[in-house]
Amino acid sequence: MVLLTRSEKNHRSRYRGDVLAARRLAAAAAMLLLAMVLACNNSDVDFTPPPTPAPVPFDADRAFSHLIAQVGFGPRVPGSRGHTECQDYIMRHLSATARSIQTQRFEIECYGDGIFGTNILASFGRGDLSPMLFACHWDTRPVADKDPFMENRHKPIPGANDGASGVAVLLELATQFHANPPKREVVLAFLDAEDSGDYESCKYCIGSYQLGQELDTYFPNRPVFGVLIDMIGDKDLSIPKEAYSSALAPDVVSRVWGIARRLGYSQFKDELGNPVFDDHVWLNRAGIPTIDIIDFDYPVWHTLGDTPDNCSKTSLKAVGDVLYVLANED
Ligand SMILES: [Zn+2]
Repeated sequence: MVLLTRSEKNHRSRYRGDVLAARRLAAAAAMLLLAMVLACNNSDVDFTPPPTPAPVPFDADRAFSHLIAQVGFGPRVPGSRGHTECQDYIMRHLSATARSIQTQRFEIECYGDGIFGTNILASFGRGDLSPMLFACHWDTRPVADKDPFMENRHKPIPGANDGASGVAVLLELATQFHANPPKREVVLAFLDAEDSGDYESCKYCIGSYQLGQELDTYFPNRPVFGVLIDMIGDKDLSIPKEAYSSALAPDVVSRVWGIARRLGYSQFKDELGNPVFDDHVWLNRAGIPTIDIIDFDYPVWHTLGDTPDNCSKTSLKAVGDVLYVLANED
């Protein structure tokens, strides 16, 4: 036993207090360290960032190669060699990927005798439910009537954006739907003779008019809705809600724009655009609520400047991803 003086007692007591505090501090630090170690090893604790949508397998490089290939055929004006070569290219790809293919051949009378257009309809997916329809036009304009140079205005346009971009996206979707068939049937429609308006005595959208005239022949089950894509390759892509689409198929518009928002694609603008007379007008008239995904603000529209360098694979990816997700929704 050790006797302590008062001051020693005080000192010892203070000392013991310091030791206790130090021990408590050490214990707390050890607990904290243990908690951190447990947290790092504990799979119940989730330090991952908030969930982001699963990546969509749509391959933008492959889509862009379809755009380049089409431009390589030259202008795809009905009756031209480029038109025939492009039709063969589309048919080859669909023959290797689609469940079934139908073609609708029709004479384009305003071009003169013996010039034909062809709508190509390819089915994908499973089930016997009414299909959804994704459409584009595959022909190109016979005259660059908006070209800044007079001497170019009688020449046909290359149609990298106005023609090839929509086809490029649908051909890549064909590859994807072949690999992973959607639950619902999806029909990809490649419409011809869209872009001959005001050329000779032609009107715009001849192919979709022809399809509308014989819809029941080609669709025993009428599509529940349709999505047309046109001029979606613009490298400065900005897509408002086209006015006819918003008026005639508002549910489809909000569904598509909702998917784009979820995927983070700001190219889809939450604003009302101008009405555009395009293939969706005849499809709506035929009874399929159809929207048009179109960026009509394209400075080189209907000029010889509609070339691949004014397009981008990022734009094809944004639209392709949205359609892929739409096809796989319930
Ligand atoms: Zn056009």
